[in-house]
Amino acid sequence: MISENLDTFYIEMGIDLKLINLGKKIEDKLKDRFSHIDQIAELNQLKVLKAMQDNRVSDIHFAATTGYGYNDIGRDTLERVYADVFHAEDALVRPQLISGTHALTIALAGNLRPGDELISPVGKPYDTLEGVIGIKETKGSLAEYGITYKQVDLKSDGSFDYDKIKEAISPKTKMATIQRSKGYANRPTFSVSQIGQLISFLKDIKPDIICMVDNCYGEFVETIEPSDVGADLCVGSLIKNPGGGLAPIGGYIVGKTEYVENASYRLTAPGLGKEVGATLGINSSLYQGLFMSPQVVSGALKGAIYSAKLYEYLGFGVRPNGNEDRYDIIQAVTLKSPEAVIAFCEGIQAAAPVDSFVTPVPWPMPGYSCDVIMAAGAFIQGSSIELSADAPIKPPYTVFFQGGLTWHHAKYGILKSLQSLYDKNLIQLK
Ligand SMILES: *Cc1c(COP(=O)(O)O)cnc(C)c1O
Repeated sequence: MISENLDTFYIEMGIDLKLINLGKKIEDKLKDRFSHIDQIAELNQLKVLKAMQDNRVSDIHFAATTGYGYNDIGRDTLERVYADVFHAEDALVRPQLISGTHALTIALAGNLRPGDELISPVGKPYDTLEGVIGIKETKGSLAEYGITYKQVDLKSDGSFDYDKIKEAISPKTKMATIQRSKGYANRPTFSVSQIGQLISFLKDIKPDIICMVDNCYGEFVETIEPSDVGADLCVGSLIKNPGGGLAPIGGYIVGKTEYVENASYRLTAPGLGKEVGATLGINSSLYQGLFMSPQVVSGALKGAIYSAKLYEYLGFGVRPNGNEDRYDIIQAVTLKSPEAVIAFCEGIQAAAPVDSFVTPVPWPMPGYSCDVIMAAGAFIQGSSIELSADAPIKPPYTVFFQGGLTWHHAKYGILKSLQSLYDKNLIQLK
Protein backbone atom coordinates (compact mmCIF):
# COMPACT_ATOMS: atom_id res chain seq x y z
CA MET A 1 0.00 0.00 0.00
CA ILE A 2 2.72 2.48 1.02
CA SER A 3 4.77 1.34 -1.93
CA GLU A 4 1.99 2.19 -4.41
CA ASN A 5 1.39 5.55 -2.75
CA LEU A 6 5.10 6.18 -2.94
CA ASP A 7 5.15 5.46 -6.68
CA THR A 8 2.22 7.82 -7.17
CA PHE A 9 4.03 10.49 -5.20
CA TYR A 10 7.25 10.10 -7.17
CA ILE A 11 5.29 10.29 -10.42
CA GLU A 12 3.56 13.42 -9.17
CA MET A 13 6.99 14.85 -8.40
CA GLY A 14 8.16 14.27 -11.94
CA ILE A 15 9.80 10.83 -11.97
CA ASP A 16 8.74 8.31 -14.64
CA LEU A 17 7.64 4.86 -13.47
CA LYS A 18 10.44 3.30 -15.54
CA LEU A 19 13.05 5.23 -13.58
CA ILE A 20 11.35 4.52 -10.27
CA ASN A 21 11.55 0.81 -11.05
CA LEU A 22 15.17 1.03 -12.13
CA GLY A 23 15.91 2.83 -8.87
CA LYS A 24 14.21 0.06 -6.90
CA LYS A 25 16.23 -2.60 -8.66
CA ILE A 26 19.46 -0.79 -7.77
CA GLU A 27 18.40 -0.07 -4.19
CA ASP A 28 17.47 -3.70 -3.59
CA LYS A 29 21.07 -4.72 -4.18
CA LEU A 30 22.35 -2.25 -1.61
CA LYS A 31 20.76 -3.67 1.55
CA ASP A 32 23.98 -5.11 3.00
CA ARG A 33 25.97 -2.05 2.12
CA PHE A 34 23.42 0.25 3.71
CA SER A 35 23.24 -1.80 6.86
CA HIS A 36 27.04 -1.52 7.19
CA ILE A 37 26.73 2.28 6.84
CA ASP A 38 23.99 2.28 9.48
CA GLN A 39 26.30 0.47 11.87
CA ILE A 40 29.04 3.04 11.38
CA ALA A 41 26.49 5.79 12.02
CA GLU A 42 25.30 3.99 15.15
CA LEU A 43 28.80 3.81 16.56
CA ASN A 44 29.53 7.45 15.74
CA GLN A 45 26.19 8.49 17.23
CA LEU A 46 27.16 6.86 20.52
CA LYS A 47 30.61 8.46 20.35
CA VAL A 48 29.07 11.94 20.01
CA LEU A 49 26.40 11.28 22.62
CA LYS A 50 28.96 10.03 25.14
CA ALA A 51 31.15 13.11 24.63
CA MET A 52 28.12 15.34 25.28
CA GLN A 53 27.12 13.41 28.40
CA ASP A 54 30.68 13.21 29.75
CA ASN A 55 30.96 16.98 29.42
CA ARG A 56 27.58 17.52 31.09
CA VAL A 57 26.18 19.54 28.19
CA SER A 58 23.31 21.60 29.53
CA ASP A 59 20.81 24.29 28.61
CA ILE A 60 23.15 26.98 29.90
CA HIS A 61 25.63 26.15 27.14
CA PHE A 62 23.19 27.44 24.53
CA ALA A 63 23.19 30.98 25.90
CA ALA A 64 24.55 33.78 23.71
CA THR A 65 27.66 35.79 24.44
CA THR A 66 28.56 39.09 22.80
CA GLY A 67 31.52 41.46 22.62
CA TYR A 68 34.78 39.85 23.70
CA GLY A 69 33.03 36.64 24.60
CA TYR A 70 34.96 36.04 27.83
CA ASN A 71 33.80 33.01 29.80
CA ASP A 72 31.64 31.60 27.03
CA ILE A 73 31.13 28.24 28.70
CA GLY A 74 28.99 27.00 25.82
CA ARG A 75 31.89 27.55 23.43
CA ASP A 76 34.49 26.11 25.80
CA THR A 77 32.38 23.02 26.50
CA LEU A 78 31.72 22.47 22.80
CA GLU A 79 35.47 22.48 22.30
CA ARG A 80 35.82 19.83 25.02
CA VAL A 81 33.14 17.78 23.27
CA TYR A 82 34.97 18.01 19.93
CA ALA A 83 38.26 17.11 21.59
CA ASP A 84 36.63 14.00 23.12
CA VAL A 85 34.89 12.92 19.90
CA PHE A 86 38.24 13.10 18.09
CA HIS A 87 40.19 11.63 21.03
CA ALA A 88 42.34 14.74 20.90
CA GLU A 89 43.81 16.90 23.66
CA ASP A 90 42.15 20.16 22.70
CA ALA A 91 40.01 21.87 20.08
CA LEU A 92 39.22 25.22 18.56
CA VAL A 93 35.62 25.25 17.24
CA ARG A 94 34.57 28.72 16.25
CA PRO A 95 32.16 30.72 14.11
CA GLN A 96 35.14 33.06 13.58
CA LEU A 97 36.70 30.27 11.51
CA ILE A 98 34.68 31.22 8.48
CA SER A 99 35.38 28.19 6.26
CA GLY A 100 37.50 25.09 5.86
CA THR A 101 40.14 27.07 4.00
CA HIS A 102 40.30 29.58 6.83
CA ALA A 103 40.64 26.87 9.49
CA LEU A 104 43.47 25.24 7.51
CA THR A 105 45.14 28.64 7.07
CA ILE A 106 45.01 29.33 10.80
CA ALA A 107 46.37 25.87 11.68
CA LEU A 108 49.26 26.33 9.24
CA ALA A 109 50.07 29.97 9.95
CA GLY A 110 49.83 29.44 13.71
CA ASN A 111 52.37 26.64 13.70
CA LEU A 112 54.86 27.65 11.01
CA ARG A 113 57.54 30.30 11.38
CA PRO A 114 59.79 32.02 8.82
CA GLY A 115 62.43 29.56 7.61
CA ASP A 116 60.22 26.54 8.23
CA GLU A 117 59.17 24.22 5.43
CA LEU A 118 55.78 22.64 4.82
CA ILE A 119 55.48 19.38 2.91
CA SER A 120 52.50 17.83 1.17
CA PRO A 121 53.32 14.13 0.74
CA VAL A 122 50.02 13.49 -1.06
CA GLY A 123 50.39 15.71 -4.11
CA LYS A 124 48.70 18.99 -4.86
CA PRO A 125 46.40 20.21 -2.10
CA TYR A 126 42.84 21.55 -2.51
CA ASP A 127 42.60 24.50 -4.91
CA THR A 128 42.09 27.21 -2.32
CA LEU A 129 45.24 26.15 -0.47
CA GLU A 130 47.41 26.97 -3.46
CA GLY A 131 46.97 30.65 -2.66
CA VAL A 132 47.34 30.10 1.09
CA ILE A 133 50.64 28.25 0.75
CA GLY A 134 51.83 30.42 -2.13
CA ILE A 135 52.09 27.65 -4.73
CA LYS A 136 50.27 30.24 -6.78
CA GLU A 137 51.66 33.71 -6.07
CA THR A 138 49.13 35.34 -3.75
CA LYS A 139 49.21 38.31 -1.38
CA GLY A 140 49.55 37.22 2.24
CA SER A 141 50.56 33.65 1.42
CA LEU A 142 52.84 31.61 3.69
CA ALA A 143 55.53 32.00 1.00
CA GLU A 144 55.50 35.78 1.55
CA TYR A 145 56.37 35.09 5.20
CA GLY A 146 59.40 33.01 4.24
CA ILE A 147 57.77 29.62 4.69
CA THR A 148 58.83 27.25 1.93
CA TYR A 149 56.85 24.37 0.50
CA LYS A 150 57.64 20.99 -1.00
CA GLN A 151 55.25 18.59 -2.62
CA VAL A 152 55.66 14.91 -3.33
CA ASP A 153 53.19 13.61 -5.87
CA LEU A 154 51.43 10.30 -5.47
CA LYS A 155 52.59 7.40 -7.61
CA SER A 156 50.58 6.70 -10.74
CA ASP A 157 48.59 4.03 -8.88
CA GLY A 158 47.57 6.60 -6.25
CA SER A 159 49.87 5.26 -3.52
CA PHE A 160 52.38 7.23 -1.41
CA ASP A 161 55.84 7.66 -2.93
CA TYR A 162 57.76 6.76 0.22
CA ASP A 163 61.23 7.06 -1.36
CA LYS A 164 60.61 10.57 -2.63
CA ILE A 165 58.95 11.59 0.65
CA LYS A 166 62.03 10.46 2.55
CA GLU A 167 64.26 12.45 0.20
CA ALA A 168 62.11 15.56 0.56
CA ILE A 169 62.23 15.73 4.36
CA SER A 170 65.00 17.96 5.75
CA PRO A 171 65.78 19.56 9.11
CA LYS A 172 63.66 22.51 7.92
CA THR A 173 60.53 20.37 7.47
CA LYS A 174 58.31 21.53 10.31
CA MET A 175 54.90 20.38 9.21
CA ALA A 176 53.12 18.02 6.82
CA THR A 177 49.69 18.68 5.34
CA ILE A 178 47.78 15.55 4.42
CA GLN A 179 44.49 15.85 2.57
CA ARG A 180 42.19 12.93 3.35
CA SER A 181 39.56 13.51 0.65
CA LYS A 182 40.36 13.63 -3.03
CA GLY A 183 38.28 16.80 -3.14
CA TYR A 184 37.86 17.50 -6.83
CA ALA A 185 41.12 15.88 -7.88
CA ASN A 186 41.58 12.70 -9.82
CA ARG A 187 43.10 10.54 -7.10
CA PRO A 188 41.80 8.16 -4.47
CA THR A 189 40.59 9.33 -1.08
CA PHE A 190 42.72 7.88 1.71
CA SER A 191 41.35 5.71 4.46
CA VAL A 192 42.16 6.70 8.02
CA SER A 193 44.34 3.62 8.28
CA GLN A 194 46.37 4.61 5.18
CA ILE A 195 46.83 8.07 6.70
CA GLY A 196 48.05 6.38 9.88
CA GLN A 197 50.70 4.48 7.94
CA LEU A 198 51.87 7.67 6.25
CA ILE A 199 52.08 9.52 9.58
CA SER A 200 54.13 6.68 11.14
CA PHE A 201 56.50 6.82 8.20
CA LEU A 202 56.91 10.60 8.50
CA LYS A 203 57.47 10.40 12.26
CA ASP A 204 60.04 7.63 11.88
CA ILE A 205 62.08 9.97 9.72
CA LYS A 206 61.45 13.11 11.77
CA PRO A 207 59.74 12.51 15.13
CA ASP A 208 58.89 16.18 15.73
CA ILE A 209 57.17 16.81 12.39
CA ILE A 210 53.66 18.22 12.94
CA CYS A 211 51.19 16.15 10.93
CA MET A 212 48.05 18.05 10.01
CA VAL A 213 45.18 16.32 8.23
CA ASP A 214 42.70 18.23 6.07
CA ASN A 215 39.69 16.22 7.23
CA CYS A 216 37.09 17.96 5.03
CA TYR A 217 34.32 15.58 3.87
CA GLY A 218 35.80 12.70 5.88
CA GLU A 219 34.28 13.13 9.35
CA PHE A 220 32.15 10.18 10.53
CA VAL A 221 32.54 8.25 7.29
CA GLU A 222 34.58 5.71 9.26
CA THR A 223 34.52 4.85 12.95
CA ILE A 224 37.93 6.36 13.56
CA GLU A 225 39.37 9.76 12.65
CA PRO A 226 42.93 10.73 11.68
CA SER A 227 43.51 11.92 15.27
CA ASP A 228 43.11 8.24 16.29
CA VAL A 229 46.11 7.25 14.16
CA GLY A 230 48.67 9.87 15.09
CA ALA A 231 47.56 13.10 13.41
CA ASP A 232 48.69 16.07 15.52
CA LEU A 233 45.97 18.28 14.05
CA CYS A 234 42.70 17.56 12.22
CA VAL A 235 40.96 20.43 10.51
CA GLY A 236 37.59 20.84 8.82
CA SER A 237 34.54 22.92 8.02
CA LEU A 238 31.27 23.06 9.95
CA ILE A 239 29.25 23.58 6.77
CA LYS A 240 30.35 20.12 5.72
CA ASN A 241 30.02 16.85 7.68
CA PRO A 242 30.43 17.77 11.39
CA GLY A 243 27.96 20.66 11.29
CA GLY A 244 25.22 18.18 10.40
CA GLY A 245 23.59 20.76 8.14
CA LEU A 246 22.58 22.87 11.15
CA ALA A 247 25.76 24.82 11.88
CA PRO A 248 25.28 28.17 10.09
CA ILE A 249 29.04 28.88 9.92
CA GLY A 250 32.31 27.68 11.40
CA GLY A 251 35.40 25.55 11.30
CA TYR A 252 37.27 23.31 13.70
CA ILE A 253 40.86 22.50 14.57
CA VAL A 254 41.44 19.57 16.96
CA GLY A 255 44.67 18.04 18.15
CA LYS A 256 47.62 18.44 20.51
CA THR A 257 47.19 21.23 23.05
CA GLU A 258 50.33 23.08 21.98
CA TYR A 259 49.40 23.16 18.30
CA VAL A 260 45.78 24.12 18.91
CA GLU A 261 46.99 26.90 21.18
CA ASN A 262 49.41 28.14 18.51
CA ALA A 263 46.52 28.24 16.05
CA SER A 264 44.37 30.18 18.54
CA TYR A 265 46.94 32.99 18.72
CA ARG A 266 46.68 33.39 14.97
CA LEU A 267 42.87 33.27 14.97
CA THR A 268 42.46 35.99 17.63
CA ALA A 269 45.71 37.62 18.77
CA PRO A 270 48.96 36.61 20.46
CA GLY A 271 48.27 36.53 24.19
CA LEU A 272 44.49 36.32 23.74
CA GLY A 273 44.07 32.95 22.03
CA LYS A 274 41.09 30.87 23.04
CA GLU A 275 39.95 33.20 25.82
CA VAL A 276 37.97 35.45 23.49
CA GLY A 277 35.46 34.98 20.68
CA ALA A 278 31.74 35.56 21.23
CA THR A 279 29.32 33.00 19.84
CA LEU A 280 26.31 35.32 19.41
CA GLY A 281 23.75 32.63 20.18
CA ILE A 282 24.65 29.96 17.63
CA ASN A 283 26.01 27.40 20.11
CA SER A 284 22.86 25.27 20.12
CA SER A 285 23.09 24.85 16.34
CA LEU A 286 26.73 23.78 16.60
CA TYR A 287 25.90 21.22 19.31
CA GLN A 288 22.78 19.96 17.59
CA GLY A 289 24.52 19.79 14.22
CA LEU A 290 27.33 17.68 15.68
CA PHE A 291 24.71 15.48 17.31
CA MET A 292 22.94 14.94 13.95
CA SER A 293 26.11 14.61 11.90
CA PRO A 294 26.66 10.81 12.04
CA GLN A 295 23.12 10.28 10.73
CA VAL A 296 23.40 13.01 8.08
CA VAL A 297 26.75 11.66 6.86
CA SER A 298 25.25 8.16 6.57
CA GLY A 299 22.46 9.54 4.34
CA ALA A 300 24.98 11.34 2.12
CA LEU A 301 27.02 8.13 1.83
CA LYS A 302 23.98 6.10 0.85
CA GLY A 303 23.18 8.67 -1.82
CA ALA A 304 26.73 8.55 -3.18
CA ILE A 305 26.70 4.75 -3.40
CA TYR A 306 23.20 4.62 -4.89
CA SER A 307 24.17 7.07 -7.63
CA ALA A 308 27.43 5.23 -8.32
CA LYS A 309 25.50 1.99 -8.82
CA LEU A 310 22.82 3.66 -10.92
CA TYR A 311 25.12 5.57 -13.26
CA GLU A 312 27.53 2.64 -13.47
CA TYR A 313 24.60 0.47 -14.57
CA LEU A 314 23.81 3.00 -17.30
CA GLY A 315 27.36 2.82 -18.62
CA PHE A 316 28.95 5.96 -17.16
CA GLY A 317 32.30 6.11 -15.40
CA VAL A 318 31.94 6.58 -11.65
CA ARG A 319 34.55 7.21 -8.99
CA PRO A 320 34.56 5.58 -6.50
CA ASN A 321 32.71 2.71 -8.18
CA GLY A 322 29.59 1.16 -6.72
CA ASN A 323 31.45 -1.52 -4.76
CA GLU A 324 34.50 0.26 -3.38
CA ASP A 325 34.84 1.18 0.29
CA ARG A 326 34.13 4.85 1.01
CA TYR A 327 36.38 7.27 2.83
CA ASP A 328 34.58 10.52 2.01
CA ILE A 329 31.15 11.60 0.75
CA ILE A 330 32.14 12.86 -2.72
CA GLN A 331 30.93 11.05 -5.82
CA ALA A 332 32.30 11.73 -9.30
CA VAL A 333 30.27 10.73 -12.36
CA THR A 334 31.72 11.14 -15.84
CA LEU A 335 28.85 12.04 -18.12
CA LYS A 336 30.81 12.42 -21.37
CA SER A 337 29.09 15.57 -22.74
CA PRO A 338 28.43 19.14 -21.62
CA GLU A 339 24.69 18.64 -22.23
CA ALA A 340 24.62 15.71 -19.84
CA VAL A 341 26.54 17.62 -17.15
CA ILE A 342 24.11 20.52 -17.41
CA ALA A 343 21.08 18.21 -17.38
CA PHE A 344 22.43 16.41 -14.29
CA CYS A 345 22.90 19.68 -12.41
CA GLU A 346 19.46 20.91 -13.46
CA GLY A 347 17.98 17.76 -11.95
CA ILE A 348 19.82 18.19 -8.64
CA GLN A 349 18.71 21.82 -8.46
CA ALA A 350 15.09 20.97 -9.26
CA ALA A 351 15.11 18.47 -6.39
CA ALA A 352 16.23 21.02 -3.78
CA PRO A 353 14.08 22.24 -0.90
CA VAL A 354 15.32 25.80 -1.54
CA ASP A 355 15.52 27.51 -4.96
CA SER A 356 14.13 24.45 -6.76
CA PHE A 357 12.68 26.83 -9.39
CA VAL A 358 16.10 28.20 -10.36
CA THR A 359 17.96 26.91 -13.44
CA PRO A 360 21.71 26.60 -12.91
CA VAL A 361 23.86 27.73 -15.84
CA PRO A 362 27.60 27.43 -16.51
CA TRP A 363 29.53 30.65 -15.83
CA PRO A 364 33.17 31.78 -15.98
CA MET A 365 34.01 31.46 -12.28
CA PRO A 366 37.15 33.38 -11.25
CA GLY A 367 40.16 31.10 -10.86
CA TYR A 368 38.94 28.47 -13.32
CA SER A 369 40.18 27.95 -16.86
CA CYS A 370 36.70 27.03 -18.12
CA ASP A 371 33.05 27.63 -17.26
CA VAL A 372 31.72 25.96 -14.14
CA ILE A 373 28.18 24.90 -13.31
CA MET A 374 26.93 24.55 -9.74
CA ALA A 375 23.69 23.19 -8.44
CA ALA A 376 22.73 23.89 -4.86
CA GLY A 377 19.51 24.69 -3.13
CA ALA A 378 20.76 24.92 0.40
CA PHE A 379 19.49 26.30 3.69
CA ILE A 380 23.06 27.41 4.48
CA GLN A 381 24.87 29.23 1.67
CA GLY A 382 27.56 27.06 0.12
CA SER A 383 26.85 24.17 2.44
CA SER A 384 28.05 21.03 0.72
CA ILE A 385 26.72 18.57 3.29
CA GLU A 386 23.43 19.56 1.66
CA LEU A 387 22.80 17.96 -1.74
CA SER A 388 24.95 19.84 -4.24
CA ALA A 389 26.79 19.28 -7.51
CA ASP A 390 29.58 21.09 -9.34
CA ALA A 391 31.24 20.53 -12.67
CA PRO A 392 33.83 22.26 -14.81
CA ILE A 393 32.53 22.29 -18.38
CA LYS A 394 35.49 20.49 -19.93
CA PRO A 395 36.34 16.94 -21.00
CA PRO A 396 35.80 14.33 -19.70
CA TYR A 397 32.69 16.14 -18.40
CA THR A 398 32.75 14.89 -14.85
CA VAL A 399 30.27 16.10 -12.28
CA PHE A 400 31.19 15.99 -8.58
CA PHE A 401 28.37 15.77 -6.20
CA GLN A 402 27.93 15.27 -2.50
CA GLY A 403 25.65 15.60 0.44
CA GLY A 404 21.99 15.25 1.15
CA LEU A 405 20.73 16.00 4.64
CA THR A 406 18.64 12.85 4.46
CA TRP A 407 19.04 9.69 2.41
CA HIS A 408 15.56 10.11 0.96
CA HIS A 409 16.35 13.57 -0.31
CA ALA A 410 19.64 12.37 -1.83
CA LYS A 411 17.72 9.55 -3.52
CA TYR A 412 15.10 11.88 -4.94
CA GLY A 413 17.82 14.26 -6.17
CA ILE A 414 19.59 11.43 -7.98
CA LEU A 415 16.36 10.19 -9.55
CA LYS A 416 15.61 13.75 -10.62
CA SER A 417 19.07 14.06 -12.23
CA LEU A 418 18.38 10.82 -14.06
CA GLN A 419 14.97 12.07 -15.17
CA SER A 420 16.56 15.23 -16.49
CA LEU A 421 19.02 13.18 -18.60
CA TYR A 422 16.19 10.90 -19.71
CA ASP A 423 13.98 13.81 -20.82
CA LYS A 424 16.80 15.02 -23.06
CA ASN A 425 17.47 11.59 -24.52
CA LEU A 426 20.91 11.51 -22.95
CA ILE A 427 20.55 8.05 -21.45
CA GLN A 428 19.42 4.74 -22.88
CA LEU A 429 17.51 2.45 -20.58
CA LYS A 430 18.45 -1.16 -21.09
C1 LIG B 1 35.95 21.97 1.13
C2 LIG B 1 37.35 21.62 1.29
C3 LIG B 1 38.29 22.53 1.81
C4 LIG B 1 37.93 23.90 2.28
O1 LIG B 1 36.98 24.52 1.57
P1 LIG B 1 36.05 25.71 2.10
O2 LIG B 1 35.14 25.87 0.94
O3 LIG B 1 36.94 26.84 2.34
O4 LIG B 1 35.35 25.27 3.33
C5 LIG B 1 39.58 22.11 1.93
N1 LIG B 1 39.95 20.87 1.57
C6 LIG B 1 39.08 19.97 1.10
C7 LIG B 1 39.56 18.59 0.74
C8 LIG B 1 37.76 20.31 0.94
O5 LIG B 1 36.90 19.41 0.47
